[in-house]
Amino acid sequence: MELKKEITLKKIPTKASEQYRNFPMVPRVVFGNGSFDRLGDILMPKRKHSEAPMIYLVDDVFEGTGLPARIPKIFCDQIIFISADEEPKTAQVDALVKMIRKEFSAPPSGIIGIGGGTLLDLAKAVAILMTNKGRAADYQGWDLVNKKSVYHVGIPTISGTGAEVSRTTVLLGPDKKLGINSDHTTFDQVILDPELTKGVDPKQWFYTGMDCYIHCVESLNGTYLNAFSQSYGEKALDLCKEVFLTDLPEDKSRDKLMMASWHGGMSIAYSQVGIAHAMSYGLGYLLKIKHGIGNCLVFQHLEAFYPEGVALFHKMMEKHGIELPKGICGHLSESEFDKMAAIALGMEPLWENALGENWKTIITVGKLKSIYRKI
Ligand code: NAD
Ligand code: ZN
Repeated sequence: MELKKEITLKKIPTKASEQYRNFPMVPRVVFGNGSFDRLGDILMPKRKHSEAPMIYLVDDVFEGTGLPARIPKIFCDQIIFISADEEPKTAQVDALVKMIRKEFSAPPSGIIGIGGGTLLDLAKAVAILMTNKGRAADYQGWDLVNKKSVYHVGIPTISGTGAEVSRTTVLLGPDKKLGINSDHTTFDQVILDPELTKGVDPKQWFYTGMDCYIHCVESLNGTYLNAFSQSYGEKALDLCKEVFLTDLPEDKSRDKLMMASWHGGMSIAYSQVGIAHAMSYGLGYLLKIKHGIGNCLVFQHLEAFYPEGVALFHKMMEKHGIELPKGICGHLSESEFDKMAAIALGMEPLWENALGENWKTIITVGKLKSIYRKI
C-alpha cells in the first residue's frame, strides 16, 4: 500500500525560526512491563522538601484496583481521582490548580498524570498553570506560556493519542477547543508500561488506537511531510498494521501499540494532522464527541481524500467487529451544521497540510456539511 509521498516542505517560511522549528522532546523515558514500579526512584530526586507534594492525577477507572497501592505516596503527596468520561476543560484545570494552591503551603514538587489522553492533558495543563498566572484559557494557542511549568510526568494507560510525547494539551474552553501548545507543555518524564493498558475496553482500545493510525495517514499524506515526520510516521503505520490486521499475542500487541502511539505523536510533531482531525474538532465542540471515536466517525467518509487509508480502516473495523454509531448528526439544525463547519475550517494549518496552499478552493462549507450529514 502506497501511503508515502515525495518529501516536500511546500511552504517555505521566510524566517529561519519558523522554518527550523526547535522542538522539545521528552528528555527521559522508561519502557517495559512493570516499569511503573520505578516511579518512586524516579521521583525521589525531584522532591523539593517534605511539604512540597507530588500530586497524582489518576483516571478514576483505577479506583479500587491494585494500581493506587503501587503509587509511591509519601509525605503529604496526594492522589486525585478524576473521571475521563468527558474531555478536559479549562475550568476544570483552573479548579484543580486552585484546590492544590489552597491545600498545600508549598508549591508541588511534581504533577503526575496516570491515564489516557484526558488525564495526560490535565496533568500537563495543571503543571503549566501552577507557575503561570491567570486562567488556562489564557494560554490556549501557540507559545503563550512564558514560565517553566512544574516538573511533570506522564504515564499512559491506553495507547494511541501520542499525548505522552506531544507539546500540546487539548482543552475545551469557554469559546474554543484548542491546545496549549508550548515548549513547557511537554512532559519531563514518561513511563511506558504496556501492562497498564490491560483492562481497556475493546471498543475504546480500537478508537484510541485509530487516533494513532489516523495521525499516520494524515501526516504521511500531508503537504507538510518531511523526512523527520516520515521516518516516525512510517514506523507507526507499520506497527498499527501489525496490531490491527494480524493476530499478535496480546502482550506483543500492547507493546507495539504503545510504541506506535509514541512514533505517531513524533510524526505529527514536525508536520500536522489533517481532515479527520479538523472535522472531529467540530463534532467534539458541538456534540462533546470524544477525540478517538470522533476521528473514526469522520474518517470512514474520507475515501475521496485518503483512499488507501480509509480502505484499510474499513478492513480494521471488520476484523475487530467494530460498528460505528449512526445518525449522530441526524437531529442537527442547519445553523448547527454551519457552526461545526466553521469550527473545522478554522483549523487552517490542518487544511493546508491536507490539501495544500490552495485548500480554500478545494473544500467548501457545502462539502463539509455533506460529510457531516452522513455521520
Ligand atoms: P481517555 O483518556 O479519554 O480514556 C478513554 C476511556 O478509557 C476512559 O473511559 C478511561 O477511563 C478508559 N481507560 C483508560 N485507561 C484504561 C485502562 N487501562 N483500563 C480501563 N479503562 C481505561 O482516552 P484517550 O483516547 O487516550 O484520550 C482522549 C483525549 O486525548 C482527548 O481529550 C483528546 O483531546 C486528547 N488528545 C490529546 C493529544 C495531545 O497531543 N495532547 C492528542 C490526541 C488526543
Ligand atoms: Zn488525534
